[in-house]
Amino acid sequence: MNDSKPAPVDEACPFCAGSGWERVGSEAVVRRCRCVEQARVTRLLAEARVPKRYEHCDLESYVPNDPTQKKAKLDAARFVEKYPLIDVGLLFLGPCGVGKTHLAVSVLKQIIVEKGDSGIFYDFRDLLRDIQSSWNAVSQSTEYDVLRPVLTANLLVLDELGANKPTEWVRDTIAHIINCRYNEKRLTIFTSNYPDAAERPGEETLTDRIGARLRSRLWEMCKVVEIRGKDFRQVIKQANYRF
Ligand code: ADP
Repeated sequence: MNDSKPAPVDEACPFCAGSGWERVGSEAVVRRCRCVEQARVTRLLAEARVPKRYEHCDLESYVPNDPTQKKAKLDAARFVEKYPLIDVGLLFLGPCGVGKTHLAVSVLKQIIVEKGDSGIFYDFRDLLRDIQSSWNAVSQSTEYDVLRPVLTANLLVLDELGANKPTEWVRDTIAHIINCRYNEKRLTIFTSNYPDAAERPGEETLTDRIGARLRSRLWEMCKVVEIRGKDFRQVIKQANYRF
């Protein structure tokens, strides 16, 4: 993502009074003021498109109640720790409500705040809807403004992969995005409710939703993290239920 916009200076800053430079000790030496970096992080967080519902998420508030959740939290923390010296993204797989989006958003926010890098969150269905609504039938192309941040973000969280009906157009579009990011070695964190292997007869798998070629590409570009457990929302609802 292009991140060359200058950060606005804060005229009320006690360290630089809006000059953007702060004095180091009593020396006549100055450095970039801390408020400049803070303003940049605030802007990157605002541009990351994290849904309000998930703004509160961080790794600390994810309380594992199952060994797979404990491992998923560790994998997420390790990803943050190693970033950007890391070759593969993360693919969180598991049923609804086990905290896949919570973990993905936590990583995204931490990368922005701690590493100062840019990142963007997109729900798979919203992304396809935005692409579709900007589709120009005459030129057979989509507005590059919609695709550009998704293709160029240093870190992309693509939530609910496979949630859309797997038409040929959906598969081609997602293949284009994933292949572009793969070729540019850009990191992506995916979440999906679809399992890799059917656990019940007739259950749809991720391969059924996105096709075998993309499934194989995902396994190449991500560490697969399977999470199990109960739907957290149901657990909380039951715990709070009063007669
Ligand atoms: P999924 O993406 O797996 O469907 P979500 O991340 O949307 O699940 O989780 C649903 C809600 O439950 C969110 O508000 C999330 O913050 C919360 N949540 C889920 N698992 C946990 C957990 N282990 N600890 C704390 N909050 C959790």
